[in-house]
Amino acid sequence: MNSMRRSGQSAVPPVRSKDRFLVFGAPEIAEAEIDEVVASMKARWLGTGPKVARFENDFKAYIGGNHAAAVNSCTAALHLSLVAMGLQPGDEVITTPMTFCATANAIIHAGGTPVLADIDPVTLNIDPAALAARVTPRTRAAVIVHFAGRPCDLDAITTLCERHGITLIEDCAHAIETQYKGVHVGTFGRYGCFSFYATKNLTTGEGGMVIARHRDDVDRVKVLALHGMSKDAWKRFSDDGYKHYDVVACGFKYNMMDLQAAIGIHQLARLEQNWLRRQQIWQTFDRELAGTGLGLPAPARAHERHALHLYTVQVDPARCGLDRDSFMNGMSANNIGVGVHYRSLVEHPYYRERYGWQGGDVPVAFEVGQRILSLPLSAAMTDADVADTITAVKRVLARP
Ligand SMILES: *Cc1c(COP(=O)(O)O)cnc(C)c1O
Repeated sequence: MNSMRRSGQSAVPPVRSKDRFLVFGAPEIAEAEIDEVVASMKARWLGTGPKVARFENDFKAYIGGNHAAAVNSCTAALHLSLVAMGLQPGDEVITTPMTFCATANAIIHAGGTPVLADIDPVTLNIDPAALAARVTPRTRAAVIVHFAGRPCDLDAITTLCERHGITLIEDCAHAIETQYKGVHVGTFGRYGCFSFYATKNLTTGEGGMVIARHRDDVDRVKVLALHGMSKDAWKRFSDDGYKHYDVVACGFKYNMMDLQAAIGIHQLARLEQNWLRRQQIWQTFDRELAGTGLGLPAPARAHERHALHLYTVQVDPARCGLDRDSFMNGMSANNIGVGVHYRSLVEHPYYRERYGWQGGDVPVAFEVGQRILSLPLSAAMTDADVADTITAVKRVLARP
């Protein structure tokens, strides 16, 4: 049947031609941010400055958080949060296996030992019962991920963390627009960490943000983000005279540039508009792909606002007649770019060797990680891009 399908495919041209390859995660960029970057260049203030301060204020207001620190990635935001909370070598930090490697790497760089708790098969978020089962006397923190933009079960998780004195850190890389019971995520934990990487819902090229409830917590992050210096460069070089700085911690070089904030300010202004466009695309996928055999994302619950970051589907070979990787090859052959978010962390040799992780530790995430992939979803997509994606899915599944 495979060879028949392959020969059948070669007879028809791909859904899109090679020169119109649909790039996965293409950002939506407008003149407003292009002009703002050019203005920053002309003003000759490239590094951390007034635009970073404005972006922090705008973002904090959007999220409804108390304090914000802009940094150069979400990875940096996670690392800084874990260092700022005072994580010590050997402290255990519970996290999800269904995430990008940066979540676990930040824990390791901060001196912690990552401990995996399995996911819920419907939401694909960390399962609060699995989290509870992994708590030991050495558990200091939990880093949760609002996967694809769907909020975690925050009532259960915050209760659990309070009961055991565990610091909660939210990886909100997918979840800028996400709300739980009407409140933005990133404000439930001690720190909320956001990403503005090129494929995320809001991009600054590279960039990130820490949201914190307490001033002391964000002040500590800001000092650590710039070498551990007591005063940032913006203030050092201001026009009311040179001021000495003191190094008060062994910090990092994680600050955001004005060039990045120049993009972010305008991306943020269009965030909700872009969310609405992705919602249209999401609903079209839900409607058109029902009955194809693909496993589709579960609908958001009434008290949840989904950020609609990733439209993940699952390829069950028993229902689809092919596996995830063959399906992806079929999409690529039709010049539709797809992504994998994610193979579970236990599949990577580094963690297997260092921590002895295996699929059986987190069976749900392990299985999902072999079936899941993400279809293209971006506000930059045209109706034709959406239609081509649907046509390609049906063709690859041989269900035209
Ligand atoms: C993208 C991503 C990160 C890392 O973000 P960067 O800004 O690229 O450092 C961390 N966690 C998750 C879940 C992500 O998707």
